[in-house]
Amino acid sequence: MDLPAPYLYIFAVFAFVVGGCFGSLLNVCIYRIPLGVSIVYPGSHCSVCGSPIPWYNNIPIFSWFILKGRAACCGTRIDRRYWIIEAITAVLFLAIFLKYYTEGVGVVLCYALMVFGLIAASGIDMDHFIIPDRFTLGGVVAGIVCSTLVPELHHQTSAWKGFNAALGGAFVSGLVLWLVATIGSKIFKKEAMGMGDVKFIAGMGAFLGTSSIVWVIPVSAFIGSIFGIFLIFTKGGTWGTRMPYGPFLALAAILWIFGGSDATQAYFDHIQKTLQAAPVIQPA
Ligand SMILES: [Zn+2]
Repeated sequence: MDLPAPYLYIFAVFAFVVGGCFGSLLNVCIYRIPLGVSIVYPGSHCSVCGSPIPWYNNIPIFSWFILKGRAACCGTRIDRRYWIIEAITAVLFLAIFLKYYTEGVGVVLCYALMVFGLIAASGIDMDHFIIPDRFTLGGVVAGIVCSTLVPELHHQTSAWKGFNAALGGAFVSGLVLWLVATIGSKIFKKEAMGMGDVKFIAGMGAFLGTSSIVWVIPVSAFIGSIFGIFLIFTKGGTWGTRMPYGPFLALAAILWIFGGSDATQAYFDHIQKTLQAAPVIQPA
């Protein structure tokens, strides 16, 4: 797909706006799904006084600033997390569009769906230390369906090959993290991570393919460690402070689609070239 400049700008703005709206929906999902409340009914309302929120006070990102972080109905403080999640989603949707529109609308939509699930799961994990199955096992199913419909996700040309790439990615990713978790809990004599994380990474593997595992596990572990050390030195955390791992897995998966994949590919190409260029030792 190739877009002339004016259309490119229009679609880019559209991607940002749609991202903001989905970010607003994400706030609802993160708050309501763990409570078992419907995400569509009742409509947006103030969680303190119960007043419905009119659309003009519910504009993604902007309303929080216009209202100076307070509810219009009763003045209750609104956490800044709401606009931050909307802004992150808007920026990510825009970035997915700009990086992947040349690969087709299917690839853009699949990555947007994946990012939506990653943010929802991360938000719930941060609040409750669980990731509901609908985002982990649901992610595996969504990844397999997306890869079958859009095999270009795995640089494949047929639905069958896309399906297989997703199945392999889910299986290998889940298995590797399960092994790491099992060995880790034997060594450290405490549970390093939960089965939720194992199912979560299987979902990522279904979208991103088997090779993403060499990036997602080390990068998430690295960022998680840096963050843990940061908490210890700034927020009075301890070595035992409980930290959800899901958000770091999600962050690593997002970094994979924005350069990690290219970097890993370049690295393996480099190794292959080096091996080919190495002098072959001939038997004397
Ligand atoms: Zn209120």
